[in-house]
Amino acid sequence: MKINTVLGQIAPEDLGSTLVHEHLFVEGDFFVDLYKRDNMEERYKEILDAPLTLENIGLVARAGLYSADNLLLVEPYHCLHELQAFRRAGGATVVDLTVDGLGREKHFQRLPKVSKKSGVNIIAPTGYYIQPSHPANVAHQTVEEIAADMIRDIEEGIHGSDIKAGVIGEIGISPGDFTDEEKKVLKASAIAQKETSVPLTVHTYGDPPGKWNGFEAIEILQRADVDLNKVYMSHIDWTVAQEENWGCALKAARRGVFVAFDEFGAEWPLWSQDHSSEPWGYISAPTDLERIKGIKRLIEEGFEDKILLSHDIDQKLRRKVFGGHGLDHILTNVVNLFVYAGIGREILVRFMVTNPRRLFS
Ligand SMILES: [Zn+2]
Repeated sequence: MKINTVLGQIAPEDLGSTLVHEHLFVEGDFFVDLYKRDNMEERYKEILDAPLTLENIGLVARAGLYSADNLLLVEPYHCLHELQAFRRAGGATVVDLTVDGLGREKHFQRLPKVSKKSGVNIIAPTGYYIQPSHPANVAHQTVEEIAADMIRDIEEGIHGSDIKAGVIGEIGISPGDFTDEEKKVLKASAIAQKETSVPLTVHTYGDPPGKWNGFEAIEILQRADVDLNKVYMSHIDWTVAQEENWGCALKAARRGVFVAFDEFGAEWPLWSQDHSSEPWGYISAPTDLERIKGIKRLIEEGFEDKILLSHDIDQKLRRKVFGGHGLDHILTNVVNLFVYAGIGREILVRFMVTNPRRLFS
């Protein structure tokens, strides 16, 4: 099967080293209104509307979703700089999952240019993220109407352009509360997936302990007769850091989906404050080494063919120009951790080339 990139179709053999979950231009500042609390610590109030600077970057790193500026990634040359670093490190393809409501509607026309300039293939998405980001049309559309829009994005082009989507997602599920509108979008995604055969990915993050919403999503897709070999569960890495959800990655892989350890580089206490007023309290991001321990366990259980890697860079402070790890982090730095963990660097070819190729074929 040919794969849609923003510069036209390529063969699966041309994918090369692939990051399956990234955001090249993204506007996630709606998170600030979603997560700020009346009882938030006083020191965080000063970053709500302040520009990201060297002086406050340490504070922003502890509460990235309280800083609107941190969540706006809209500068073309910062984006290009990241893609060039990825290319120099041996990277070939980025799957961009910035759907409408996260900024696709404003920025998708910029993707061909940064792809051409960097030499990196970019696969553009269709679908919708968690409900608070849904554009107004989603509420009153039927499952069939939403599916028809997705199919048009994939077969004809996004918003009347000739840029065709090549992936469905990230389809968002709100933490602890999988809403009816989100279920409607997921059911529409299932129809579009079966019609077009492009891969589909589901976002879950921060569910209460022992209540990972991913299983319900997998069941909905299974009931709709979607081939689970075309599905990947994004952000599976946060479950390996949470005792009660430790086995989720393994159970999901057993169902037949791919699992994406897609937040490599996020090692600070990401999201901690955001959930500190929720009944289940803190959720911290795992370290890269903890991610690798989770991956090692999946390999031991025989699921190395189901593992995908990425960074999900959606905050300014994770980009190189703001002192972050950048889009080449896995290829440049994490590879050494695989060696240290006794897995070896060759496995990276499986996770970044062979597995994405099977998913997209
Ligand atoms: Zn996500």
